[in-house]
Amino acid sequence: MILPKSNRLTPEQLAEITAIVGEFGCKIQPIVGAVRTIYAIVGDEREELMINRLEGLAYVDRIDRIQSPFKLMDIRSDLASHRLTLGGVTLGEQLLVIAGTCTIDPKNPNYFYETAAAVKEAGAHVLRGGVWKPRTNPYAFQGDVKSLDILMEASRRTGLPVDTEVMEDLHIKLALEAGVHSLQVGARNALNYSLLRSIGRAIAERDTCVLLKRSIHMGPLSEFISAAEYIAAFGNPNVILCPRGTTPTLDGYRNHPDESITPLLKEKTWAPVVVDPSHSVGKAVYVPACALAAVAYGADGLCIEAHVSPSHGIGDDPKQAVTPEVLAGIIRQAKQLWALRRGTGSA
Ligand code: PEP
Ligand code: MN
Repeated sequence: MILPKSNRLTPEQLAEITAIVGEFGCKIQPIVGAVRTIYAIVGDEREELMINRLEGLAYVDRIDRIQSPFKLMDIRSDLASHRLTLGGVTLGEQLLVIAGTCTIDPKNPNYFYETAAAVKEAGAHVLRGGVWKPRTNPYAFQGDVKSLDILMEASRRTGLPVDTEVMEDLHIKLALEAGVHSLQVGARNALNYSLLRSIGRAIAERDTCVLLKRSIHMGPLSEFISAAEYIAAFGNPNVILCPRGTTPTLDGYRNHPDESITPLLKEKTWAPVVVDPSHSVGKAVYVPACALAAVAYGADGLCIEAHVSPSHGIGDDPKQAVTPEVLAGIIRQAKQLWALRRGTGSA
């Protein structure tokens, strides 16, 4: 829909926009109001170049899009009935819990094996563990490919599917060859379109899932959904949106918790939402409240950092990881809240 700056276009201006949209197989239908006339674009208006050219015209105030730019991830797309299954949980039917350490310590694998068994016991469905780590400081521990074996061994021992972050093509290749079930795109890479494209291509023929974190640099929610669309565009729509806190605005929390965007996402996309309360608040003591808030806001699941002995962990674990006992409590209460929210009385 084209809204001109003036009350109506001159015949020359109308001829110009008609010619532009005509190049893209569309037509113009004026809608004459008592005061203003607006101009509907009839046809597929998702062509970016056409919109850019129209927006570049000095006499055009703005273009309101009627069609969603998300052909696959939009709530009204043909894929809206697609259901993801991970760790035996069909998203939307049961609360999904992903838990495990921030980072796998390749020198002390037993911490990871013990954590894996403990998070399973606490009720988690998917085991997380960072093999490769994006670190702000180049001298900080960057992860170690040896941890991939530890991750897969923990998966074999517990029977839990595993999630780990990938940051480049080599990671994607190695993780998929090893049999990782869910690839994580971290907050720092959620706007890395070549990585999103690579992941989309790599999982096109697989049932792998992608846990897509929200970048702190993302503005409108459409940018978040657009990142998911990049992956889905290659043929695998198993993308889970993961709010994980945005630019910090509070003294006390590591990031500004953003679980409250869940209902807004759910109005726009059918993609499941799994909230990460650990990175949102950055301190173990605040994680339970944020996790429950996420469920109250309609999250389909939680991704929580947990460690059998947080102070012996590396990466975020000493500050952020909850113990398996705390995790078990969060899961119990989150399931009760989930049941309350859905009015079913049972989780
Ligand atoms: C993580 O999951 O450990 C991590 C680094 O997350 P984020 O990308 O949200 O910072
Ligand atoms: Mn972490």
